[in-house]
Amino acid sequence: MNVLEFDVVVVGGGGSGLAAAIEAQTQGARVLLLEKNDQLGGSTAWSIGSVTSTGTPHQRRIGIVDNPLDHWADMPGFAGNLADRDNAELRRILCEEIPETFQWLLDSGVRFMGPMPEPPHRLPRMHNVLPNSRSFIYHLSRRARRVGVDIRTGHQLTQIIMQEGRVLGVEAKHASGLQRFNARRGVVLAAGDFTSSEEFKARFMGAQEAKVEAVNMTATGDGQRIAESLGARVLNGDLALGPEIRFMAPTTETLMRRLPPWRWLAVFMAWAIDHLPGVILRPFMMKFLTTALAPSTSLFDMGAILVNQMGERFGSELDKPALRLPDQPNKLAYIILDKDLCEKFAKWPHFISTAPGIAYAYIEDYKVNRRDAYREDESLDGLANQLGMDANTLQKSALSGPVRPLGKGPFVALGPVRSVFVHSEGGLLVDHHHHVLGAEGQPIEGLFAAGSTGQGGLLLKGHGHHLAWAFVSGRRAGKFAAKGL
Ligand SMILES: Cc1cc2nc3c(=O)[nH]c(=O)nc-3n(C[C@H](O)[C@H](O)[C@H](O)COP(=O)(O)OP(=O)(O)OC[C@H]3O[C@@H](n4cnc5c(N)ncnc54)[C@H](O)[C@@H]3O)c2cc1C
Repeated sequence: MNVLEFDVVVVGGGGSGLAAAIEAQTQGARVLLLEKNDQLGGSTAWSIGSVTSTGTPHQRRIGIVDNPLDHWADMPGFAGNLADRDNAELRRILCEEIPETFQWLLDSGVRFMGPMPEPPHRLPRMHNVLPNSRSFIYHLSRRARRVGVDIRTGHQLTQIIMQEGRVLGVEAKHASGLQRFNARRGVVLAAGDFTSSEEFKARFMGAQEAKVEAVNMTATGDGQRIAESLGARVLNGDLALGPEIRFMAPTTETLMRRLPPWRWLAVFMAWAIDHLPGVILRPFMMKFLTTALAPSTSLFDMGAILVNQMGERFGSELDKPALRLPDQPNKLAYIILDKDLCEKFAKWPHFISTAPGIAYAYIEDYKVNRRDAYREDESLDGLANQLGMDANTLQKSALSGPVRPLGKGPFVALGPVRSVFVHSEGGLLVDHHHHVLGAEGQPIEGLFAAGSTGQGGLLLKGHGHHLAWAFVSGRRAGKFAAKGL
């Protein structure tokens, strides 16, 4: 087998991998980045794109005086009774380093709006990327190529090669066969989370959870699995965002997702958000909001019903329906509203879905922007007919809602919805240099992990902390690997 020599090999072309590769190469190392998919991106490109940070130019511009220590102190407020499972040292690193990394993202060409308030943060800290999360990948991959990183897509890590207790390199599968790459100074695992691994979900969460799919279907936990074979340990494997019910993403890309991540466009959007009246902006924002968002659970609290493709309810909508949804035909369901509910969910405070801090989407927004996910009919029979359901079954379901029977028409069906994991928290135990720790708690020489793969027991609840961690930990792991620490 042909063996190619590098100083640092980074596995994964999402946010953390690109950050690691850029920093390692900038330190003077010769860097190879391997990505198993045909395109870079990972969950980073799927994300809404919120990054939470103190000390940003955006905060300063509106007179907010904030600091990393307050950020560090506020974060456990999101973790609630899980707070004692957090890795306080990694949390400190995250909060201390995100201001500089936020500036690094700006220097790379990424643009944000905000900051938005999100209690219990004592001050507004959440920034949202413009025009969409592909912007991270677009700008960071350009920067990586500019500094000289060798990026190879379609290369899947299959094995880490060890020699006398030290990482020697990696083996990767490619269409042309197995390839070997040596890494003189280190390997950085930045291969994302395991929301798409049935085996990990069954092991850490349970058999029912293992049936739930992921938003990112290629997040298979390869980094965690391969490191475990070397004695590494996964922490907080039972924690995840999900299972939760989400609308399916539109089959055709929405306007906002199609927008190219050019810097001038992002700058114009940031200006427009600050200066144009909401009435002009709202139609644009709505196209952004209604991609693959979570319907508000208050729909069910107020009386909406959830039925499968046959028109049947499957247990109480108020008691974890997302766990039972994977047992329904095609794992799909619809939310049914009567006239009264449609009138309620037409305005604040009753919204159908939200994207954090940006705006709320009401029933009319779905009618206009998500015609694929909106059906309306004067009668339940007509609605059943449109959805290919048995009318009698739907009638029966309507009489037995979780709070009350459905009332008068017209009726609306929103969906299909499915049950998904958005992200999982189970990452490898690492030290403060992002070294992966082995079975005896000792660093595995030459092996580093970043982003979700190297989450190390850190709790990232609240919006914008996962991406913040991906960029902070990626940059650090890349630097340390290049130094051969
Ligand atoms: C719908 C959605 C919305 C989200 N919104 C937000 C948000 O607004 N704010 C926030 O902070 N977080 C958000 N998150 C979470 C956040 O996106 C992730 O935690 C973060 O992007 C993880 O970055 P990463 O670099 O660790 O992994 P990824 O971005 O997933 O990158 C990992 C890469 O490694 C590649 N890879 C995997 N295995 C191999 C292998 N064997 N060989 C080679 N390559 C491999 C993958 O294909 C992938 O490209 C969201 C997630 C989702 C799914």
